[in-house]
Amino acid sequence: MDENRSEISKLGEFGLIDRISRNFNLVNKNSLRGIGDDAAVIDAGDEFLLVSTDMLVEGIHFDLSYAPIQHLGYKAVAVNVSDIAAMNGQAEQITVSIAISNRFSIEAIDALYAGIKSACENYRVDLVGGDTTSSTSGLVISITVLGRVKKDNIVYRKGASVNDILCVTGDLGAAFLGLQVLEREKEVFLTDPDMQPGLEKYEYLVGRQLKPEARTDIVFDLREVGVLPTSMIDVSDGLASDIFHISTHSGVGFRIYDDKVPIDHLAYETAIEFKLDPLTCAFNGGEDYELMFTISQADQEKIKNHPDIHFIGYAHDRKDQNMLVTKEGNVVPIRAQGWDHFKL
Ligand code: ADP
Ligand code: MG
Repeated sequence: MDENRSEISKLGEFGLIDRISRNFNLVNKNSLRGIGDDAAVIDAGDEFLLVSTDMLVEGIHFDLSYAPIQHLGYKAVAVNVSDIAAMNGQAEQITVSIAISNRFSIEAIDALYAGIKSACENYRVDLVGGDTTSSTSGLVISITVLGRVKKDNIVYRKGASVNDILCVTGDLGAAFLGLQVLEREKEVFLTDPDMQPGLEKYEYLVGRQLKPEARTDIVFDLREVGVLPTSMIDVSDGLASDIFHISTHSGVGFRIYDDKVPIDHLAYETAIEFKLDPLTCAFNGGEDYELMFTISQADQEKIKNHPDIHFIGYAHDRKDQNMLVTKEGNVVPIRAQGWDHFKL
């Protein structure tokens, strides 16, 4: 063993990004925000330009034995658009870079791009470039998205104040449970290829995993009623680690009420079926691509009847104390624990 070698797993994903970012200072005046938020922020004169990149790697982020390649194309775009939505912006252009091995046919690449096109149409973004190269080990797809936001409307991860209300959209944990279902069906299929996968019952969960949507509708709805969140993030790693991000960036702590965390009834039942705690799936599952944001109390009234926005807690002044309040009145610390690919 090389004594000078340090394992990346010691740092984890967030630690590694921290380490990288420490060595780089921004030198251009228009680079307003670099590494650390859902998207970089560049002063483009009248407005802010937003830039974000997300990469999906076969065997790490997806398994083509159950993920239709067309859905994968759609998802790769949606997760990027989601990061622009998390800055309260609008995505406008993407570049798409792919690395492919000779395992992939023209038809497969056609299907991948059919999914990309469908997402481009749905989110009104233009494919404006990319790169194509070969790979020795499966498919890699990396997308960069460009977006814009009016200067007054930008929302960062920082910005939450004491007493702000923490909101989350949609429901949480379903994408993770969809993955559990798909993994189980794959095992069943490998043991007995004649078995038909029993997925109908779990359609909602599987759909959440394979074809997530960016919540651009929420950005629109909030603007319509004149609510500017004080901070925002998209829930890609799971509620726990995304609460932690808002908390550290904003310098506040949160109290979350477990009975307020939105969990779909099918996700709840499926968690029990898998002998998992539904709340743990919501907190640590990841890949839901919902928006989590804080609002000032004065704004609560304006969105209290929105069917897809849930108030799950509030901010207090003890910075590193993110706590879960259970129905029974117990208060337990929330541990930030997102997806950690380096554990693998
Ligand atoms: P998200 O989950 O919103 O996509 P990430 O956790 O992937 O965000 O990244 C957090 C921040 O770190 C972002 O600002 C991203 O641009 C930056 N980042 C991630 N990986 C790298 C890297 N290898 N080099 C430089 N910046 C990076
Ligand atoms: Mg994000």
